[in-house]
Amino acid sequence: MAEANTPHIAIIPSPGMGHLIPLIELAKRLVDHHNFTVTFIITGEFSPSEAQRSVLNSLPSSMASVYLPPADLSDVPSTAGIETRISLTVTRSNPALRELFGALSAEKRLPAVLIVDLFGTDAFDVAVQFHVSPFIFYTSNANVMSFLLHLPKLDETVSCAFRDLTESIKIPGCVSVPGKDLFDPAQDRGDDAYKWLLHHANRFKEAKGILVNSFVDLEPNAIKALQEPSPDKPPVYPIGPLVDTGSSDSNGNDEYDECLNWLEKQPFGSVLYVSFGSGGTLTSEQFNELAFGLAESGKRFIWVIRSPSGIANSSFFNPHSQTDPFSYLPHGFLDRTKEKGLVVGSWAPQVQILAHPSVGGFLTHCGWNSTLESIVNGVPLIAWPLYAEQKMNALLLVEDVGAALRPRLGEDGIVQREEVVRVVKGLMEGEEGTVVRKKMKELKERVVRVLSNDGFSTKSLTQVSLKWKAYQR
Ligand code: UDP
Repeated sequence: MAEANTPHIAIIPSPGMGHLIPLIELAKRLVDHHNFTVTFIITGEFSPSEAQRSVLNSLPSSMASVYLPPADLSDVPSTAGIETRISLTVTRSNPALRELFGALSAEKRLPAVLIVDLFGTDAFDVAVQFHVSPFIFYTSNANVMSFLLHLPKLDETVSCAFRDLTESIKIPGCVSVPGKDLFDPAQDRGDDAYKWLLHHANRFKEAKGILVNSFVDLEPNAIKALQEPSPDKPPVYPIGPLVDTGSSDSNGNDEYDECLNWLEKQPFGSVLYVSFGSGGTLTSEQFNELAFGLAESGKRFIWVIRSPSGIANSSFFNPHSQTDPFSYLPHGFLDRTKEKGLVVGSWAPQVQILAHPSVGGFLTHCGWNSTLESIVNGVPLIAWPLYAEQKMNALLLVEDVGAALRPRLGEDGIVQREEVVRVVKGLMEGEEGTVVRKKMKELKERVVRVLSNDGFSTKSLTQVSLKWKAYQR
């Protein structure tokens, strides 16, 4: 916990690996480059998952973690959307947070700043009560953030379901988005998940600033529009890409050794890495088609599998499958692909895999951390969005940035095996693959520039950290 008079920041990651990982990267930068002391305040409905524990246990000693008691959500139906559960977890942790801040205040060790992610805005109530300045780190991109900032206005002016809009939604500086591709929770405006999304979007303006995990070369127009001063929104700081660069030490982790040893034996740029993030799951039918498609493509692959489910985000709170995912593979699949493929259950050392020279493509659900991890390594993408804001990310990557190919859905909503073969071959050996590979290489070089000492993202972070240092009592 913070020493007296050292600039002190508290961070509340809302549940989910996709929120925790980038907030940890932000914390590392604040400690290493700006001499802050950081305290993580962990909220949850249950005790932390295996995946969460492993990243929290590897935090450097300069960062403290405080675990708040699990939030009681026993009255919330099991059918509630993840956005509802995540938001309620943070909101219902406020009494414990208030107690913690009270104790810190008594010891004169209150943080100067509280940083939350998209779903943590209710913690602002406690921050403001203790005169701690509230900030948001938006862990996805500037395009999606612009939509969120516009959501209250869209909500007022659009009366139908967004998916029924006949024209795409246009926001200054952003890729036009057909209503059906808007974030998942906005698809049913009657659902609590939408109400929560709107609630947080409305509270964004209460933050004293919003940091966004993106960079000017990736989204120049959206970032420019966001940085236009306006009374409706706090200042926006593009500070990305902040990604876990991983350690090259396996720490006795079996999957790490298995994947890295296998990659060592593969030719340069020959392997497609296939993963749907920390929480994505496919239906049985889709899982099967993907399996046949990968096998028939004849390309090398590492596929991180999770037991199929009818709910695309069913593993969000716990990435590890509750049943044996291998038992769902088509009969004979492992034998048939053993020369060319490696199948890993539930969780893989993604950062190290993407950094390996044998990897030449990534079939991804377009989670923003996965996307950025691929960009920093110059690995081109196949965009296969599943839930949350992933369809918006896919649109940005395919139509605007030109760094990804996208498979077409069949009439039944399934990507058929022939389409898997087409897109995998297209990326790994086709002309279209060459184009997106070139774009990714260019972006990788831009990343080095924005994160250099006088790069745009480095300067943005310095600017906001000077502000924070001025808040320190
Ligand atoms: N991740 C990983 N191994 C896996 C799956 C995911 O290390 O097998 C990490 C990945 O590197 C990324 C994060 O988990 O940092 C997933 O975040 P993302 O925003 O891509 O997607 P989400 O899981 O939030 O949908």
